Amino acid sequence: MRIDIITVLPAMIEGFCNESILARAQKKGLAEIHLHNLRDYSADKWKRVDDYPYGGFAGMVMQCEPIDRCISALKAERDYDEVIFTSPDGEQFNQHVANDLSMKQNLIILCGHYKGIDHRIREHLITREISIGDYVLTGGELAAAVMADAIVRIVPGVISDEQSALSDCFQDDMLSAPIYTRPAEYKGWKVPDILLSGNEAKIKDWEMEQSYERTKRLRPDLLK
Ligand code: SAH
Repeated sequence: MRIDIITVLPAMIEGFCNESILARAQKKGLAEIHLHNLRDYSADKWKRVDDYPYGGFAGMVMQCEPIDRCISALKAERDYDEVIFTSPDGEQFNQHVANDLSMKQNLIILCGHYKGIDHRIREHLITREISIGDYVLTGGELAAAVMADAIVRIVPGVISDEQSALSDCFQDDMLSAPIYTRPAEYKGWKVPDILLSGNEAKIKDWEMEQSYERTKRLRPDLLK
């Protein structure tokens, strides 16, 4: 799969995309992440991409033209499944949205900055608006990085132990059971006996019970 991220601050995302799972996915040829500096699409000699809002409101607004030029240039190369805008008033990003997007071929993610983007872009070019939570960030860069990470790590083959991605929190609308590693006892703190029993069926039951109990206690909303 391929993700094209449009931003005024590519450096903010670049380091992130070249570490850990995102780097590995790209090396394995399972994902491509391309960063596009919106300023490169500005027709202005100062490379400006923003202007004052109509109506005398506060803040600056990202203009239509550079965004349109960048998206058009990308669309001329390939078809896109979604043109996503990161926005605090968008649909809430969660594991279901990540699963859905991980099955797409080509995605554009547009990062807003300043006060936001000219609304006409949202009306005419954006196919999906996504928020990563009910708080306001300075720009969409962190949101794009969060989405790219959550999407790419579940592309088949990216995590070598696929079971490990499937058993993560939220995959069945359930929180994960607690996990432990060696030693079996540390400062008198013990790993539950059942996990040392070697009884696979019982361990599976324990895991499901724990998962259900934690979900019921910590996130009852997920069980509805
Ligand atoms: N004036 C806007 C906020 C602008 S914040 C409003 O009140 O809705 C600047 C940019 O940061 C936004 O255009 C968006 O692209 C990004 N952003 C901010 N908060 C976000 C969030 N919770 N999820 C996704 N993107 C966000």
